[in-house]
Amino acid sequence: MSLIAGLRPLELRNHADGRWLEIEWSDAVTAVIPHRLLREACRCASCLAATRAGNAVAAPADVRLDSIEAYGPNALRLFFSDGHDRGLFPFEYLRALPVRGRERADSTGK
Ligand SMILES: [Zn+2]
Repeated sequence: MSLIAGLRPLELRNHADGRWLEIEWSDAVTAVIPHRLLREACRCASCLAATRAGNAVAAPADVRLDSIEAYGPNALRLFFSDGHDRGLFPFEYLRALPVRGRERADSTGK
């Protein structure tokens, strides 16, 4: 059992313009995750196969997270603009991604 079992997102805000996803967790932590990082963490069959073969998953810089669906009680299914839509993201996996907390992903200007 992990310490964060039972942790769940209370709120998901998908910022299409800045291409980042904001997750408010049930322990009051807010995470900001760039869409590209999410895409590169995709665990669909083809991404897993590539990773196992030793190839890093390289997403286009402008890849977008188009939509989000609940998948069972403990995971999300994410739909990306480059056609990857079978990646399942268990909450624990999402929470473990390297993210920037409250820092705004869109403050770098573009
Ligand atoms: Zn994938």
